[in-house]
Amino acid sequence: MKGRKLLMIPGPIEFEPEVLHAMGRATTSHVAPDFIECFGKSIELMREVWRSPQGQPFIVAGTGTLAMDMAAANLVEKDDRVLVISTGYFGKRYKDIMDRYGAKTTILEVPVGEVVDLDAIENELKNNSYKALTLTHVDTSTGVLVDPEPIAKLAQKYNCLSILDGVCSVAGEEINQDDWGIDVVLTGSQKAIGVPPGLALLVASEKAMQVWNNRKTPVGSYYADWSNWRPIMKAYEERRPSYFGTPPVNLIVALETSLKIILKEGMEVRVKRHHELAKAFRIGLAALQFEFLPESNEISANTLTAAYYPKGVDGSALLAKLSKDGVILAGGLLPELKTSYFRIGHMGSVSSNDLIVVLSSLERALIELGHPVKAGEGLQAFQSELLTKNLAIV
Ligand SMILES: *Cc1c(COP(=O)(O)O)cnc(C)c1O
Repeated sequence: MKGRKLLMIPGPIEFEPEVLHAMGRATTSHVAPDFIECFGKSIELMREVWRSPQGQPFIVAGTGTLAMDMAAANLVEKDDRVLVISTGYFGKRYKDIMDRYGAKTTILEVPVGEVVDLDAIENELKNNSYKALTLTHVDTSTGVLVDPEPIAKLAQKYNCLSILDGVCSVAGEEINQDDWGIDVVLTGSQKAIGVPPGLALLVASEKAMQVWNNRKTPVGSYYADWSNWRPIMKAYEERRPSYFGTPPVNLIVALETSLKIILKEGMEVRVKRHHELAKAFRIGLAALQFEFLPESNEISANTLTAAYYPKGVDGSALLAKLSKDGVILAGGLLPELKTSYFRIGHMGSVSSNDLIVVLSSLERALIELGHPVKAGEGLQAFQSELLTKNLAIV
């Protein structure tokens, strides 16, 4: 066990051994036939995970933020109106990105732990002509889950593009891009997609591609411009060699491996596993007197949990104890609440056994810090919940 740590933060996550082995294969040329096949296949598999048979996938070296930037750079022109629906830190980031491209942005915000009211969104869309809206599926700073479907439907009703920041949700939460009519669904590789950091991934709808095609002005970012990347995606999908910028060969080999693992489990089963584990985990935490940032279960993410430190418990001492025990959790991210809460990622390969380790370590650390809980209280609640499901969650 020496040196073995359990990485339970909201990305990077614990990766499947096969994915890590795939990363370590000898790097081939980006135009080697095997790699062309792998890239082409990855594009096809993304459509299945996103549930977007009509969409145009993009696989580009960069982080989740580049995927956000790419959607903004290609779809928004100076003075376009953009509505940012924010449930935390990453909502605000989207406003900064849109502002950078000269958009006229309006941000709808709510107190921490709440979601923006649908009526407030409809009001804005009705009274102003927006080119696009952005929403964060799971805001990793608050653990708040937003239901994208009704918002995407409103966007369609008012002829506005919808851009979903799915960095902390794609391949963990339910997404049906085409059925729900979302124009861009984007993510980064290191979260529920389960590949080490370094890939910006997004799928754009046919409508988004048309809007991009009809731009009046050139895209303001050379690297992010779809004019450079679309022919590359097309070539790989048609199994032809091509070049714009050298793709991160090893990461894409790992991506194909991970997408195959995801689809072998099946999206429905995978989403259900995330849901049931998240629910049971929070029942376990609640038994240890933790309270959560999202104001209800219905709007709590299934990919991570954001919880307040119990009163009287020194947060940094708690995280340090867990780290010594080999369990790595994340601190707070919202500047105004940074020291009062922490976050546990439970996405991708996460199993009930991982969460048992987290709960038992938390119990011991709390007891050592003098917090009045009994060893086993959180575990018992977690176990009971899993047993009522009568499910073998591995
Ligand atoms: C992590 C995250 C991002 C940023 O992704 P990077 O890969 O760190 O650039 C954006 N949005 C959400 C919701 C995230 O969770």
